[in-house]
Amino acid sequence: MKETYEIIKSDEEWKKFLTPEPYQVLRKEGTEPPFKNPYFDNKGRGVYDCAGCGLSLFSSEAKFNSQTGWPSFWKPVDESSVGSKTDWKIIYPRTEVHCRRCGGHLGHLFNDGPQPTGLRYCINSAALKFIPAWKRPDLSRTGPQSQAGQARESPDGGKWSGQRGLRIPSRSLPSGF
Ligand code: FE
Repeated sequence: MKETYEIIKSDEEWKKFLTPEPYQVLRKEGTEPPFKNPYFDNKGRGVYDCAGCGLSLFSSEAKFNSQTGWPSFWKPVDESSVGSKTDWKIIYPRTEVHCRRCGGHLGHLFNDGPQPTGLRYCINSAALKFIPAWKRPDLSRTGPQSQAGQARESPDGGKWSGQRGLRIPSRSLPSGF
C-alpha cells in the first residue's frame, strides 16, 4: 500500500524548489555527514519544520544529545506529522522516517532513545528548518508541546541533566545514582 501525500511535485520541480543538500536528503534519501550539519548541536528553543513543505515536525523540547552527530528527538511534534517504512538499504532493516505531507525523507527511527518513549528519531539537518520559539509561540508553549515540556523535567526518572535536554547515559552513572 503506497502512501499518498498532500504536496506532490515532480522530481524536476523539487530540484528547482530546493537547494542541493535538502534535495539530496529529502528527495534522494541521502544522508548528510555527522557533526558537519547545522542542527546536531543546536540548543535553541523552537520548532523544526520540514525543509520541503514547512510542516512542523519536531520541537526542541524533545531534542536530546544522542552523540551521533545528527539532530535527535525522542518524539515528533505530532504522531501524524511523520510516516515510516522499512528500509533495506544496508544489510539489516531500518525504519525510514519521512514527512507525512510531502513525503520528503527525514532520517531513521531507532528504539534506543531516552524515556518516556525510548525512541530516537535520527534526522538530517538538511531536511529541517529551525524556527526559533519567539517566532512560533503557539507551537513552543502550548498544544502538542506542553506534554513534552512537562516530561522534560524528568522524562526517564532523573537521568537527564534537565535544562538543555542533554542525556547522560545511565550506564555512565555511579551505582545508586
Ligand atoms: Fe514536508
